[in-house]
Amino acid sequence: MSEFGKLTKGVFPSILKETHANHITQPFWDAAKQERLICAKCANCGTFRMPPSAFCFECQHRDIEWVELPGTGAIFSYTVVRHPLHPDLAEACPYVSGTVELDGTQGAGARMLVNIIDCDPDTVRIGDRVEVVWEHVNDEMTTPRFRPISA
Ligand SMILES: [Zn+2]
Repeated sequence: MSEFGKLTKGVFPSILKETHANHITQPFWDAAKQERLICAKCANCGTFRMPPSAFCFECQHRDIEWVELPGTGAIFSYTVVRHPLHPDLAEACPYVSGTVELDGTQGAGARMLVNIIDCDPDTVRIGDRVEVVWEHVNDEMTTPRFRPISA
């Protein structure tokens, strides 16, 4: 077995076992444990800030309000990783790492870099519709991945 545990082709393993959250990011992880996808939004100008940031990149205000999203979106960009970053990750390759534009947001401020699973790396395309799936890493940490929405 690899140092990353049992691997599944197409699934990049959750290497981190704790969130290392701070007061700005903790609400995201609390919601994730309940399988709810929430996004930080500037309380002043409404710009979505994902990942949550201390300051708004549009207006520099600090205040955040959290908005619950439907958990769907479209692939904005992606890459197929065919060469393992570490020899013990070979079993996971190929896998798709992509940026998902989240439904319920206005775009650039709310894209997530995620592992896109349950897809054929040879046919995945920009614009494909995807939905969140949650991986319970342990009692403290649940992480999002996305998979194609089957038609
Ligand atoms: Zn703002």
